Amino acid sequence: NKQVYTFGGGARDDSARSRDKTIVGGKGANLAEMAGIGLPVPPGFTITTEECVRYLAEGGDFSESLKAEVQAALAHIEAAVGKKFGDPADPLLVSVRSGARVSMPGMMDTVLNLGLNDATVEGLATSSGDPRFAWDSYRRFIQMYSDVVLGLDHHLFEDALEIAKEDNGFYADVEMEAPHWQALVREYKGIVESELGRSFPQDPHEQLWGAIRAVFDSWDSDRAKVYRRLNDIPGDWGTAVNVQAMVFGNMGDTSATGVAFTRDPATGEKAYYGEWLVNAQGEDVVAGIRTPQYLTKAARERAGAKPLSMEEAMPAAYAKLAGVFELLEKHYRDMQDIEFTVERGKLWMLQTRSGKRTAKAALKMAVDMVAEGLIDEATAIKRVDPMALDQLLHPTLDPSATRDVLARGLPASPGAASGAIVLDADTAEKRAERGEAVILVRVETSPEDIHGMHAAKGILTARGGMTSHAAVVARGMGRPCVSGASAVSIDMASRTLKIGQRELKEGDIITLDGANGDVMAGKVPTIEPELVGDFGTLMAWADRHRRMKVRTNAETPDDCRMARQFGAEGIGLCRTEHMFFDATRISAVRQMILAEDEAGRRAALAKLLPEQRADFQAIFAVMAGLPVTIRLLDPPLHEFLPHSEADFTELSEAIGIGVDTLKRRAGELHEFNPMLGHRGCRLGITFPEIYEMQARAIFEAACAVAAESGDAPVPEVMIPLVATRKELTILKALVDRTAEAVFAEQGRRIDYLVGTMIELPRAALMAGEIAEDATFFSFGTNDLTQTTLGVSRDDAARFLTPYVEQGIYPRDPFVSLDIEGVGQLVELAAERGRQTRGDLKLGICGEHGGDPASIAFCEKVGLDYVSASPYRVPIARLAAAQAAL
Ligand code: PEP
Ligand code: MG
Repeated sequence: NKQVYTFGGGARDDSARSRDKTIVGGKGANLAEMAGIGLPVPPGFTITTEECVRYLAEGGDFSESLKAEVQAALAHIEAAVGKKFGDPADPLLVSVRSGARVSMPGMMDTVLNLGLNDATVEGLATSSGDPRFAWDSYRRFIQMYSDVVLGLDHHLFEDALEIAKEDNGFYADVEMEAPHWQALVREYKGIVESELGRSFPQDPHEQLWGAIRAVFDSWDSDRAKVYRRLNDIPGDWGTAVNVQAMVFGNMGDTSATGVAFTRDPATGEKAYYGEWLVNAQGEDVVAGIRTPQYLTKAARERAGAKPLSMEEAMPAAYAKLAGVFELLEKHYRDMQDIEFTVERGKLWMLQTRSGKRTAKAALKMAVDMVAEGLIDEATAIKRVDPMALDQLLHPTLDPSATRDVLARGLPASPGAASGAIVLDADTAEKRAERGEAVILVRVETSPEDIHGMHAAKGILTARGGMTSHAAVVARGMGRPCVSGASAVSIDMASRTLKIGQRELKEGDIITLDGANGDVMAGKVPTIEPELVGDFGTLMAWADRHRRMKVRTNAETPDDCRMARQFGAEGIGLCRTEHMFFDATRISAVRQMILAEDEAGRRAALAKLLPEQRADFQAIFAVMAGLPVTIRLLDPPLHEFLPHSEADFTELSEAIGIGVDTLKRRAGELHEFNPMLGHRGCRLGITFPEIYEMQARAIFEAACAVAAESGDAPVPEVMIPLVATRKELTILKALVDRTAEAVFAEQGRRIDYLVGTMIELPRAALMAGEIAEDATFFSFGTNDLTQTTLGVSRDDAARFLTPYVEQGIYPRDPFVSLDIEGVGQLVELAAERGRQTRGDLKLGICGEHGGDPASIAFCEKVGLDYVSASPYRVPIARLAAAQAAL
């Protein structure tokens, strides 16, 4: 079973190109692909993800067969390059990089310049004719290897470099000459010896295996785990390891390194976009150590920057690069994120992958590429991550608001965010957990900050370009980000900072505008987004390709209106209890609950009837012509009870019953397990007058709207928490009776449906019988998950995170349907229900109705619609289209 595949250097049969990403990882597959289509890729080999999984599971040593395969693959590189690994006269150096199935930018480890030691560095100096370059590469190698493989703190080395520069009176790294680097190498080796009590490894093979081991281990690093959790990447995929001949961007002024996108990843604009540095290695660009320069002349001029763009400084290499951009976009039919190096004027490709992008850019690119004939509509629909649309559905800064601008940085990730300044990731996480909006402000971010970036509403950095870690990660997460705002200086000791002239401290409120890079004092007002342009185009395509309808869960006319603007095609769940909490009617609700007998309840219900009728009338008016599913009262009654002394006193005065009596009644309503207690249809069975009032309100409202507009709504009356057919039979009869009474009084008839929620396992099992009395089922997967798993939806947060981390459930089952388990009940109930009633209407109204993976499942089992909260409606429309394609 082969574990090593080669690429580049004319390898054919045994090429990594024959293997897919699951085996050789994304980076390995794309390197092989680029080599295969004739692009200049330094030769190399890939150790499979399977080997990583085996190594992490079994630990211990690498097998003899793997060692032999690596040896053979190394010989492939040596033959292609014409240099030998460890040759003291003219050494082959390699890079060792991670590469999982999907890219996890910066989360795993990389080692460059591997193969250098005290002997080979001399050889490299001679063979390259550039001792400065050789010693610069060696010090880079010792620093990176010591950090990544030997586990030493990188600050030890950075501090030594700073001191060396100061001692020599230098400002920038480029001022350091060969003897300075050589002296620094001596110093670095001393650091390793004193920290570890042994010398820096000199054997290139020992170095190579150390690096391979470190890359595999980095799959299970804390930051990689956090990234996987945030991005739903399974922990058992593992990473591949790519070992590749080094090419050097640090061989003087005809050498360079850069990162580029074939289109703008922030806006989607069709313009090359990127950053580069002369006489540097790749890490310098992404780590934000030097501020990179613009790739194109146009971008440089637009920014008013001085240092020449690559287009101007290296026109020949730039022209080659632009040709590669065109070729790669055509080949992959997608925007590419590219790493390249120019070694003494010659261009080398080090990576290509489909670039991460903001939601706005994703939409623009998808729509543009259809117009360019690069992709078809179906591909465009599949290109956009439905969850990313969320970014576009949120407010942006009001253009007419005044801005107290403190500084301007780079617009690294769009969107607007206001919040309290926090200066480290842990604090960001803590304060966000308490519900505070925070902005993470750092000199630069590193992968260890990922949890804080996720917790923050926005990210501001003093250093780093548009392709810095902060920028890439923020765009991926949809967090607004302003990077490289050099006017920001932070004093961690006093937890204060200066932005421009202004003194601020942790906790002060600032606002970021990720669209232009503005950093502003205080909170700037926002406006609602407009859903037009590319968004509208893609949504129209999605609507054409989906089968399922998309409804919304809403109970106020405002929410209904917003959901309609988002494209909702009806209401899938109107939770009537939300209408009971309204301040103007809560006392009537409480009076109803605390009444001693039916007469008392009816008196209170009579006060509620006109209020409910008005609620329904308003909703029917907004939803004219669309189905509206109204659920009768569901929660345990004590949820409405007064809590404080003041509440009791107020209620006592309002309804004329003594506080003591009220308290006694409230005490009687106590339940040990209210979620499994007196709630749902059990309320309707025991207090039929409540459901009767609600049904009456619904039919009276429908008749009123029909009389007014001539356009009669079709109410769908839904009975919650049914377990047996008998419950539904009794309550359906009650609803029908009430309808007939109202129709007789009003002198008109309205079409309506009576159906039930399927949210208990028994109901799912008995769906065949229940369908005799129901014309529709709506899967209440919140309760169905709770009751099937035996996990309280209100208490699960405390233990579900570790459950997900340990892979017990792949995702939080209250967020993404437990398809394996709960899914079986849904599928079975749908089948049994439809056996009884062929035209049974099927929908879902639990939270899962807005989750793309769950929506795909709903498509598979043939539901007619999903219902989601208003902001999730566009997400559901797109996800439903993707599921249907
Ligand atoms: C459900 O249980 O899935 C549901 C939609 O009802 P609620 O969340 O109101 O219990
Ligand atoms: Mg429920």
